[in-house]
Amino acid sequence: MVDTLEHDILIVGGGGAGLRAAIAAAEESPDIDIAMVSKVYPMRSHTVSAEGGAAAVIKSNDSLEDHFRDTISGSDWLADQDVVEAFVREAPDEMVQIERWGCPWSRESDGSVAVRPFGGMSIERTWFAADKTGFHMLHTLFQTSLKYTAIKRYDEWFVTRLLVENGRCQGVVAIELLSGQVRAIRARAVIVCTGGGGRIFQFTTNAAIKTGDGMGMAYMAGVPLKDMEFVQYHPTGLPGTGILITEAARGEGGVLLNNKGERYLQAHDLGEALDVNDERHPQLRAMELGPRDRLSQAFMKEEQKGNVFRDSEGSYVHLDVQHLGEKKIEAKIPFVRELAKNYGGVDPVYEPIKVRPVVHYMMGGIDTDIDAATKLPGLYAAGECACVSLNGANRLGSNSLTELLVFGARAGRNASIWAREHPEFDSAALEQQASAEQERIADQYINNHDGKERIATLRTELQETMEQGCGIYRDEVSMKATTEKLAEIKARFRSGIQLDDHSLSFNTELTSALELEFMIEIAEAVAHSALERKESRGSHQRTDYVERDDEAYLKHSLAVHSEGGPQINYRDVAITKWPPEARVYGRDH
Ligand SMILES: Cc1cc2nc3c(=O)[nH]c(=O)nc-3n(C[C@H](O)[C@H](O)[C@H](O)COP(=O)(O)OP(=O)(O)OC[C@H]3O[C@@H](n4cnc5c(N)ncnc54)[C@H](O)[C@@H]3O)c2cc1C
Repeated sequence: MVDTLEHDILIVGGGGAGLRAAIAAAEESPDIDIAMVSKVYPMRSHTVSAEGGAAAVIKSNDSLEDHFRDTISGSDWLADQDVVEAFVREAPDEMVQIERWGCPWSRESDGSVAVRPFGGMSIERTWFAADKTGFHMLHTLFQTSLKYTAIKRYDEWFVTRLLVENGRCQGVVAIELLSGQVRAIRARAVIVCTGGGGRIFQFTTNAAIKTGDGMGMAYMAGVPLKDMEFVQYHPTGLPGTGILITEAARGEGGVLLNNKGERYLQAHDLGEALDVNDERHPQLRAMELGPRDRLSQAFMKEEQKGNVFRDSEGSYVHLDVQHLGEKKIEAKIPFVRELAKNYGGVDPVYEPIKVRPVVHYMMGGIDTDIDAATKLPGLYAAGECACVSLNGANRLGSNSLTELLVFGARAGRNASIWAREHPEFDSAALEQQASAEQERIADQYINNHDGKERIATLRTELQETMEQGCGIYRDEVSMKATTEKLAEIKARFRSGIQLDDHSLSFNTELTSALELEFMIEIAEAVAHSALERKESRGSHQRTDYVERDDEAYLKHSLAVHSEGGPQINYRDVAITKWPPEARVYGRDH
């Protein structure tokens, strides 16, 4: 028998999207009862580590149309234009709202909200709280959520699967990590806000908890994963650790230099190098403020030409902010200095920082519509785990934090309406499913003493093959090899995992095994979606199909789970007003 708890709405994830959804649900229906389950204490969610800022139109020289156009061209025309229109329209109110809840946005000297330039944005529109934006946003959302007594939290509970009966999602199964007890939590609507899965790659800015659990759960419950082939490399991570040096460093005027001391981006169709002291600097949407996919690709080309530095941690280029001076560095990007000193071994006031591209963000995720609903009734998703189709083939930096607010709020509102209208449960069937899940966890892991495969070995092999086959540049041969390797890893995983820890309380080896199971599933979705897309677009660059092919691939990919591996289908992109054009940066923009 599994204990069963019950709530109207259940949110999986206590990051920015989950908290915003919880607040919106509580505001929409004051009498509704909301549960939030998180595998870590909410303030430890990855949102806390976001540095650079969140984009929304606020200044009189900016416009919703410009934010729309930057996002569409950034996406290489793969974003749904109705979604982008709604996003840019709702973004400013969300940003003002979170300030009223207490988010300390940095200000100009006249008291107005300060905005900074960010990659791929044609004008300064990124709001920031120094370079600890995610920290302040998450604190604000968390403390605001505490005001609502309707929100009950289950901190340090690990969700293992969705409960689906009668064609409706009706809850989850979760392990209370303190006791190791498996519980069923029934809910009339479930919102998945579990974040990204960058940990399927070896070298990433993503926290260790970003293992794509929610994507895996929804996928195994029959919901497609959309546009999974699009994985964002951020151009400036610290070699060795992968720790992010925020784009704000370039937004404030930092430059990238190769081993010849050249601002090499001018050789890659990203505009001209202006003198760093030129009044026009930074030149927007050009050079260091080009989009992330282009900058990461330029690094690879410089590497091929032998124009990068090398040491024991691999190849790198220099990110130089010395000309900004200590005062500006301390005022605008103090965290960059702290990270560079502690993890890069240099003080950027006096020396350049070593950087290289690093896996940062997944554009793809759980397929949702503009209302954050999935095709499984009662199941919603928002934030990085979801693909509402805002980011297309390449996300613009600083659109993600705002996405958490806009689509987190939409998910919360819509889920609460659905929950009100669907009060009934298929209780007996749900209980049976939860018992079956409890048995599976016991048989496959806790009571299994015969497993031979080690978690760390399989995980490392998975990360290596993803890096080899699904990195910045891809081709048929390498991707095929990755799909085959992943099938082998999956078979070995299923043959039995060897756990050393068979105890119940805080069994982190068990949660690592459950995470690895999700990682294998989503890695397969990435590799198969990438193999099938025979064109180059945004972050998906193939050396064997170098052009964008709108005729065949102006489409979202949809990976559908099956026993034999992912089946890849396609759906048209919503184009409301701006048909595809060439994607140009650095010239008159
Ligand atoms: C270093 C870094 C810097 C960034 N900087 C910026 C920036 O400046 N601007 C910008 O726009 N974007 C930035 N991003 C991207 C952005 O921060 C993320 O996309 C966003 O914060 C994700 O928020 P989320 O709410 O979707 O998920 P997260 O914040 O990752 O939260 C996920 C939640 O799900 C829970 N969870 C996961 N699996 C389970 C499970 N099995 N059971 C129970 N709970 C589970 C976790 O406990 C957590 O609470 C950055 C990302 C990184 C990594």
